[in-house]
Amino acid sequence: MPGGYAGKFAEIDLSRGTVREVTFPEEVLKAYVGGRALGAWITWQRLKDKPWEAVDPLSPDNVLVFLIGPVNGLYPGSRTIVTGKSPLSNGILGSSAGTWFDAAMKMAGWDGFIITGRATSPVYIWVFDDKIEIRDASKYWGKRMTEAMKGILREIRDELAKKRPGRWPMVPPIALIGPAGENLVRNACVMFGQYDAAGRGGYGAVMGSKNLKAIVVYGTKPLPEPANKDAWKTLWTALAQRNIQRYGAYRRWGTGRGLWQFGWWTASLPIRNWQDEWHEKIVAGPQEYEHGLWVRVFWAGCWMCTQHCYKTAVVRLEDRPERLVSELPDYENQATQGSILDEWDPDQICINTMFASELGLDTIGIGGTVAFAFELYEKGILTREDTGGLELKWGDSKAWRAMLEKVTKREGWLGEALARGEYRAALEIARRKGLPPEKVLYYAIQCKGIEWGAHGIRSKLDYTRWTITYAVSVQGGDHTSIASPRLEDYEITPIINDTGAFCSFTAPPIEERAMWLTAVTGWSYSVDTLKEVAMRALMIQRAALLLGGPDVRWVRDGKAIDENPGRMMEEPLPSGPVKGRRVDPEEFKRELATYYETHGYDENGIPKSEVLRALGLADVDEALNRIRKK
Ligand code: SF4
Repeated sequence: MPGGYAGKFAEIDLSRGTVREVTFPEEVLKAYVGGRALGAWITWQRLKDKPWEAVDPLSPDNVLVFLIGPVNGLYPGSRTIVTGKSPLSNGILGSSAGTWFDAAMKMAGWDGFIITGRATSPVYIWVFDDKIEIRDASKYWGKRMTEAMKGILREIRDELAKKRPGRWPMVPPIALIGPAGENLVRNACVMFGQYDAAGRGGYGAVMGSKNLKAIVVYGTKPLPEPANKDAWKTLWTALAQRNIQRYGAYRRWGTGRGLWQFGWWTASLPIRNWQDEWHEKIVAGPQEYEHGLWVRVFWAGCWMCTQHCYKTAVVRLEDRPERLVSELPDYENQATQGSILDEWDPDQICINTMFASELGLDTIGIGGTVAFAFELYEKGILTREDTGGLELKWGDSKAWRAMLEKVTKREGWLGEALARGEYRAALEIARRKGLPPEKVLYYAIQCKGIEWGAHGIRSKLDYTRWTITYAVSVQGGDHTSIASPRLEDYEITPIINDTGAFCSFTAPPIEERAMWLTAVTGWSYSVDTLKEVAMRALMIQRAALLLGGPDVRWVRDGKAIDENPGRMMEEPLPSGPVKGRRVDPEEFKRELATYYETHGYDENGIPKSEVLRALGLADVDEALNRIRKK
């Protein structure tokens, strides 16, 4: 067995109530490593012959996969990847989350959980070293995130305390869903504790569709040894020290410090559903931000991470003297639960974020979806009758939270429509209002059914500076996995990160990531072989996305639908340092053609047969014949 791996995966069949140990041949692990790449391969292998297009992501046929990679536990700052067929894109996303869940998995002796079927009643999974139990979770079903989490963890803790008094100092890491996941809201996330989440892709809804409330993991085994201990020690020391120095400000304030300054510099922050992307809200520098407002420096974070980017916020409540303590929302949450609504009060932004998390919603996806509804209300497409009497006015956080709740409960026809995500909601709203779909889709800021992260493309001042950033990404609007015309840039880098599975904030350059994987596994990885791993994952993700189904497809007449929302192509930025800038359609065409060429796609955006076969993906090639032009 190579170093770094725990050595086995668990297949948990919730329909039958069985657990089976699974291993993969060395050549599969070498070719796909772990995390996102291996998750894409497993998902594809399990669903490809059903066939892929026929699998409803919210049916028992789908798989829900929790994976780590060889470096998890042996690297300062790594992630758990959740994947399966996405109910938003109908493709595959690698959805990444932090905490200590990954290290606990490895110490329990598992490299991954492959969850299939559907339980007949609500359950949670308790993993204690090699033993995996499926337990009744009926009393936690319907509960909001914190209440359910506390209940399940209390149950586990009491049990452990009775078994071995005084020997269980830690609360086991947990992954769970809130009411949104239970109600199959497609923007439901998998929460990892109170403040972290595998947000993108809708995997909370997949978990809910399986009647699975939570997974709790406790491991007592030593972590597996790296293959080359000396090389590993050298890499660890150098990286840990470098990260402490390199990210001083980031370590001190987290990404949350960026809202006022970063959005102002880059003119790429969503404001009023992306009607604008620039603001003049620079009211504080870092010191004021920390001491005068609401951030408390508190170093907490993922397993062994030297960044420890989690910060606490102390929140003032309007109507009560008490203060709430919460994690400081990160940059994206501050945008998608704040500026996108034209809400700039830090306390309200924090409350919105906590509220969405309590319901188990992906703050980014649901933020985009609800802001879209606010704009349709402003434009008169939606009325008070449609919203159940709510007035959707920019800056009104109370109305915002009321809408989050309506969507979670699928209340009224609008709550039901928005629970399907922004893209499907746009189609339903257009149908009900007798409007052409493109008129409503114009305001839906998403690509491939995934709402955009908090970084716009029009200003070209952010890292999302390409016109095709989201339009051709295999993860759609996910800002953590963006596309660029050049192969060596994105989206290869985040795939390698999610595969290792390194946190993108802690990951060293690609050469060093190859050294890490070599030192840990004992196999020889180079930059080129790592890129090949990433390309295999990319091709599987692209094929799954284009095959899509059963409801939404991203291919029209044999040509991939790689498009930006209408607003980005037609509306110039109304303010800021690059006022007047919009996406140039000619530049978009050029960048898309270059992307197709550099990534081995044909002129219709379908991966070429020879490229797939050179990567050992003959089965993917054959499946794509179903959508290729004859
Ligand atoms: S930088 Fe933050 S998210 Fe990344 S591993 Fe460290 S604590 Fe976790």
